[in-house]
Amino acid sequence: MTKRDYYEILEVERGADITIIKKAYRKMALKYHPDRNPGDKAAEEKFKEAAEAYEVLSDPQKRERYDRFGHAGVSDNGGFSGGGGMTMEDIFRHFGDLFGDGGSPFDSFFGGSRSSGSQSGGERGSNIRIKIALSLEEIAKGVTKKIKIKKDISCEVCGGSGAKDSNSIVTCSTCKGSGYIRQVRHTFLGQMATTSVCPSCHGSGTKIKHFCPNCKGTGVTKGEELIEINIPAGVEDGMQLSMRGKGNKGKHNGQNGDLIINIEEKHHEYFTRDGINIIYDLFLNFSDLVLGTEVNIPTLTGKVKINIPAGTPAGKILRLKNKGISELNSYRKGDQLIHVNVWIPKKVSHEEKELLKKIRESENFNPGDKKGKGFFERMKEYFN
Ligand SMILES: [Zn+2]
Ligand SMILES: [Zn+2]
Repeated sequence: MTKRDYYEILEVERGADITIIKKAYRKMALKYHPDRNPGDKAAEEKFKEAAEAYEVLSDPQKRERYDRFGHAGVSDNGGFSGGGGMTMEDIFRHFGDLFGDGGSPFDSFFGGSRSSGSQSGGERGSNIRIKIALSLEEIAKGVTKKIKIKKDISCEVCGGSGAKDSNSIVTCSTCKGSGYIRQVRHTFLGQMATTSVCPSCHGSGTKIKHFCPNCKGTGVTKGEELIEINIPAGVEDGMQLSMRGKGNKGKHNGQNGDLIINIEEKHHEYFTRDGINIIYDLFLNFSDLVLGTEVNIPTLTGKVKINIPAGTPAGKILRLKNKGISELNSYRKGDQLIHVNVWIPKKVSHEEKELLKKIRESENFNPGDKKGKGFFERMKEYFN
């Protein structure tokens, strides 16, 4: 299904400022909220669509990318939170942030019960933080890492239910198994049915008579999971990526926490990084610069032979196009810059000294000016 334009969804102008966008989203969210449209799948889709549009347009960075690249600029990049893929829980979780707690008509409107967290009412699992150290080669084109992570996982004995066996699970008598309590409320928009999570079963619709001995009824045990992490090209040291729901499993069927990945850049033997460019310091024999030569130099994708023309001065910067790092979320690629340096030995032999003295005496090897005048000639003019 092709996605609709986010501005069109919220019915705002492209240049609309954040207060207008917020207002428009509020209007849509009220109109299509599931509590006002029970069982209406089309309304639910509209509700999600509006939330997704708001998520992007309310974030200046995401909005800029969306304006430049359209949906492709904000689509999920290897599982990291982007535009799509929001669940109802995500949307409700955001309500508190968007419209503020207390006093907002939105909160009182929906009873505020949603903002307490997941619909199932279980405990949200905690986030897990890990560090991943990447080489410049990996950063240059992006990389997929498979990492085994110790975390709270679903109990294998009870399958996460927390019950000793299937006979130990009984229907909750308070909500008759629905997990929700429905109430009719009178609001400024008229009579509305609101739902809140059943306080007795925390939304599961069931009660446990006998707990699973392995997890003591929580549905969660210590374990590990092999997680595939797609890291896009162009990340930087200190950047943080998050994978929603890949953290610790929540107790009593609560939401999972997130996996937060801190990026570290490993020191490189040859290169230093300057944004999307990489810098390589090339040291050459003085004679090679004078006479010209060919040298092999390392790049992020293997060695390359380059030509050093005769008469190349030290300090010259040579450029290898597109041999740098791909820019994050773009098609731009950096270059490799080669800084040309002269290698100066610390010690010289007697014969070398004699050779160098001869070169020193040659007028041709002394600094001239742009017109090619020699050093001695210029000095003569200067002192006269
Ligand atoms: Zn268990
Ligand atoms: Zn219940």
